[in-house]
Amino acid sequence: MSPDHSDRDPAWTWDEPRWRAAVQRVRAGRSLSPKSWKDGARVCVALSFDSDHETSTLREGSVSPGRLAQGEYGSRAAVPRILKVLKRYDIRASFFVPGVVALLHPDEQRRVVDAGHELAMHGWIHEMTSELPAAAERDLMRRAYETLTKTGGRPPVGVRVPSWDFSPTTLSAIRELGLLYDSSLMADDEPYELLEDGEPTGIVELPVEWIKDDAPYFGMNRATGLRPYTPPSSVLEIFKAEFDGAVAEGGLFLLTMHPHITGHRSRMAGLVQLIEYMKSVDRVWFATHEDVARYCLANA
Ligand SMILES: [Zn+2]
Repeated sequence: MSPDHSDRDPAWTWDEPRWRAAVQRVRAGRSLSPKSWKDGARVCVALSFDSDHETSTLREGSVSPGRLAQGEYGSRAAVPRILKVLKRYDIRASFFVPGVVALLHPDEQRRVVDAGHELAMHGWIHEMTSELPAAAERDLMRRAYETLTKTGGRPPVGVRVPSWDFSPTTLSAIRELGLLYDSSLMADDEPYELLEDGEPTGIVELPVEWIKDDAPYFGMNRATGLRPYTPPSSVLEIFKAEFDGAVAEGGLFLLTMHPHITGHRSRMAGLVQLIEYMKSVDRVWFATHEDVARYCLANA
């Protein structure tokens, strides 16, 4: 823990105000589920791609070209493949991009924006936010915001904290920037308003979950014994079941993917099958996170 978030004495010694304050710091407020989705759609699908690219390696202070190349694949091979598929199925998605990735690959970000997709914030160098002093967190968010504004031609309105590592001071930093939404927390399946110390903030939360993320199924680290590899067909089965559940409840299906993970041939085949499956259902609204957040605020 950083000096700002240090809770070094064990939790069993905390008094009630202390553990209550910890829980109350950032909390789910009123539901922002709309009565119905846009144009009477029965389900909303928000696809996101976190373009971590080289920053998954750089964040650890590693400069290994071997590992950096795996991130480079995300930009060189995967994003073009993903953009092609999104175009073929006429789907607008959201791309969460670290500031450093925007600087390394500005043309890629412009292609993303030109194709009608949303460019949103994803940290500076994919730092672990909760390990930072509050001042550094705010400074990096501001730099990321300015970088994306320059690269994308307009200020970003949303953020996904790298690794969903939301710190006790992240919400204050988000409010300072005047963002519309966050997509890093997990208190619900459906959109909700964020509370800070019990007070409504007007910030929309578009919740995520590791279940609806490609990384836990496909990720591997050659330096450890960890090999959680899952066949694309099994991942497709899980994602379909999550989508089916959202259809049954008239809710939101928000899926997080990473170009350097999902952009491989075997996995793109799975994504195409998932898209075709979702397209076979009547009245599905495919939207960017920004569109979902705006719609929910206006129609909750
Ligand atoms: Zn990421």
